[in-house]
Amino acid sequence: MHASNGKKQNNRVVIVSNRLPVSVARNNGNLKITPSIGGLATGLSSFHHDSNGLWVGWPGISPSDNEEKITMEETLRRDFSCLPVYLSAADLKKYYYGFSNRTLWPLFHYFTTYCTYEKSEWKAYRKVNQMFCRRLLEVIEPGDMIWVHDYHLLLLPDLLRQENVDAAIGLFLHIPFPSMEIFRYLPWREEILRGMLGADLIGFHTYDYTRHFLSSVLRILGREQEYGQVVAGNRLVKADTFPMGIDARKYSEAVDTSTVIKEKKTLRERLKTEKIILSVDRLDFSKGIPERLRAFELFLEKQPKWHNKITFVMLCVPSRTKVKQYQLLKREIDELVGRINGRFGRPGWLPILYMYRSVPFDELIALYSEADLALVTPLRDGMNLVAKEYLACHSKTGLGVLVLSETAGAAAELGEAIIVNPNDIEMIADAISQGLEMSAEDKKAAVSFMSRRIEKYNIFRWAEDFIEHLSQIRGRHELNKQRFLNIDLQRTVKSSYMKANTRLILLDYDGTLVSLKKKPELARPSAELLKLLSALKADPKNTVVIISGRDRDCLSEWMSGTGVDLVAEHGTWLREADWNEWQIKEEGLNDQWKKNFYPILEMFSERTPGSFVEEKTYALVWHYRKAEPELGALRAKELMDALHDMLSGTSLQVLRGSKVVEIKPAGVNKGKAAMHWIDKKEKWDFILSMGDDWTDEDIFAVMPDKTWSIRVGFKPFTRANYFMESPEEVVNLLNTLVNDIK
Ligand code: UDP
Repeated sequence: MHASNGKKQNNRVVIVSNRLPVSVARNNGNLKITPSIGGLATGLSSFHHDSNGLWVGWPGISPSDNEEKITMEETLRRDFSCLPVYLSAADLKKYYYGFSNRTLWPLFHYFTTYCTYEKSEWKAYRKVNQMFCRRLLEVIEPGDMIWVHDYHLLLLPDLLRQENVDAAIGLFLHIPFPSMEIFRYLPWREEILRGMLGADLIGFHTYDYTRHFLSSVLRILGREQEYGQVVAGNRLVKADTFPMGIDARKYSEAVDTSTVIKEKKTLRERLKTEKIILSVDRLDFSKGIPERLRAFELFLEKQPKWHNKITFVMLCVPSRTKVKQYQLLKREIDELVGRINGRFGRPGWLPILYMYRSVPFDELIALYSEADLALVTPLRDGMNLVAKEYLACHSKTGLGVLVLSETAGAAAELGEAIIVNPNDIEMIADAISQGLEMSAEDKKAAVSFMSRRIEKYNIFRWAEDFIEHLSQIRGRHELNKQRFLNIDLQRTVKSSYMKANTRLILLDYDGTLVSLKKKPELARPSAELLKLLSALKADPKNTVVIISGRDRDCLSEWMSGTGVDLVAEHGTWLREADWNEWQIKEEGLNDQWKKNFYPILEMFSERTPGSFVEEKTYALVWHYRKAEPELGALRAKELMDALHDMLSGTSLQVLRGSKVVEIKPAGVNKGKAAMHWIDKKEKWDFILSMGDDWTDEDIFAVMPDKTWSIRVGFKPFTRANYFMESPEEVVNLLNTLVNDIK
C-alpha cells in the first residue's frame, strides 16, 4: 500500500474513467502497456490495489482481432486490474472530441462561444455512456462501490440506476461546474443533471462548483437541497467539496534525486540567466496562455532592468490537436512567442523558451525546482495541479513564488500565493515584478503555509475522504431503505387492518392522495379516487378523515358524497360527516391580527414576482411556489426574520412549509385536529396516517405507539415510521385494503 494513512478499504472500488490509467499501444506487432503518470492514476492506485479493485476505461486502442483482444484483456486484468471499453474512431470523433470536448469542456469553462450543440454528438455521448454501463453490468458484484470520474461520463450514474444497480455510486467532476446561467445554455441540461443524480455522492473541487450544481438542480429540475442533499426517488444524493490533492511527497522527494540534480545542472548551464519563470500547461484555451504571454511582454516593456537576466520557460503539452480551436490557439501562441522573442531577444538571450511537447518526470521536477516563479494563470481551471506540484517541489527551501489565477480551483486553497485576475495583463505583469523582488523571508512564509496544506490533504487523503463519505451515505441509505413500505410491509398493514374492528384512517390530500399541481385548482379528485374514499368510508369499522390545508368550501365541494370527515385550514376547522356545519375546536381564536400582518405579506409579494398572499379565516399564507426558487427561498427567510420579532408576545406562530410561510394561531395544527378523532376511543385497533409535508409531521408526532404513519416522498427527517414513494402507491395500498373487505 502507498504511503497513505494506512486505512484499509473493505469494499472493492470499481473506478470508471474515460481513459484507463495505462495506455496500450502496438509495437512491432506486440502490445505495449505503459502506466500513465497523471495525478489521478497515481493517487487512486492505493485504492485500486487495496480494494482488489478494478478500473474500467478506454485503453487507447481497439484490438485488431479476437486473439489480440484476449491477450490484451488478460494482461490488463492480470497485471493492472483494468477492464477495457473499446471506442471506435466514430465514437471518439463524436463522443470524445465532439460532445465531451466541443460542448461540455468549453461550456463548463465558460467559453460559451466555442461550444457546439450537435444532436448527433449528444447521441454518441449517450451511446458511449451506455457502453460503459453495459461493461460495468458484466463485472459488478454485490458490495462493490463504483466511482465514476469526470465530464465524459455524466450520464453513467443514472444509467446504472435504471438497470437497478444498487451499489454505492460516487461521481467526481474534475472540471468546474459553471453557474446556472451558463449551464442552462445546454439543450440537454436536464438529462445531464438527472444522469449525475444517479450517484449517491457527487464531488467537486470547490464550494463554488458545488453551489452552482445545487443551484442548477433547483432551478432546472425544481429540486430543493438541504445541507447539500437532494432527494432522488428513494435516495438522498449529496453534493460536496473535495479539493483534489497531489502526491506531495513524491514531488518533494524527487527534487534531491541524482537524476533530477543532473537535469537541474544542465538546465542552468543552458539558460545562463539569473532568474527563471515557468509555466506548464496543456495547450488549452482555458489556460490563458496568450494573455500570459502578453503580460510577460508588458513586464519586459516596463522592466528593462530584467532584460538579459530572466527566461520565461513555457512548457505547453499538446492536447486535443484534432479540435479546430486548439489548432487556432497553437498558431496564436506560436506567433506571440515569435513576436516577443523577436522584439526583445538579443544574441545570447531569448526571453521565452517555448517547448511544445511533454517532458519526462525528472525533467519536469528540474523545471519546477529551478523556477524562481511559477505563472499559473488559467482563465478557468477546475483545480490546477501544476500549482500544487510547483509548491511541493519548493517545500524544503521555501524559495519559490506562485502567481496564481483567482479563477483556478486551487486559489480557494492557496490564498498565500500572489493572486491575479488572468484577464488583467497589467496585474499579471506587476505580479511578476513583485514576485521577483520578494524577500526570501516572505517567500518562505507563504510557501511553508501552502505546502503544509498540500502535504496534509494529499491525493491519498482526498480519495479516502471521498470513499469514506460515500460509504457513510450508503450506510444511511441502507437504513432508510428499510423504512420504505415494501410489499411485505404492505401485507402486514393489510393483515392488521383485517384483524381490526375499530380503524382510524387520517389522510392528507395534496401530495398524498393526488400529486401536486402547479395550480391548486387543478388537483381535483378523480371519480376513481372519490369511489375509493366512499368505499373506505362505507365499512362501518372505519373512520376516515381528510386533514388538509385547503379551505372549507373547496373540501366541502370536492369531498361531498364520500361521507368522510374533514379538517380544513391545517386544523382550524373540523367537520364530522353527521355535523351540519364546520366547527372550531380551539377557543379564543380571533382574526383581528390579520390587518396588521397583511400589508407586510403584500409587500413581500410585490417584491417577489410569482408569489401571492392567501387569506384564510384564521391564517395568512404567503405562497411562493411559482416564484424564482432561489429568490423565493431568500425572501422567505427575510420574511421569517421580519415576522419573528413582531410575533413575540402574541399567541401567533409563523411556520415555513413547502413553498409557503404561514402565520396562524399558535395552538392550531393538524396534530391537534387529529387528536379530536384519536381521543374518541381509548384504543383504536388500527390507525393509519399518511401525509407528504411538514404540516403532516404534527400528525405523525401525535400518533400513538404501534400505529402506521407514512410519509409520502422520501425525506431525511420525519417522524413517520415509513415512506411510500408517490400518491399512486398510496392509492394502491388503500385500494388493496378496500378490495380485501369486499
Ligand atoms: N504534466 C505531465 N507532463 C508534462 C507536463 C505536465 O504529465 O510534460 C502533468 C502535470 O504534472 C500535472 C498535469 O500534467 O499533473 C496537469 O494537470 P492540471 O490540473 O494542472 O491541468 P489539466 O491538464 O488537468 O487541465
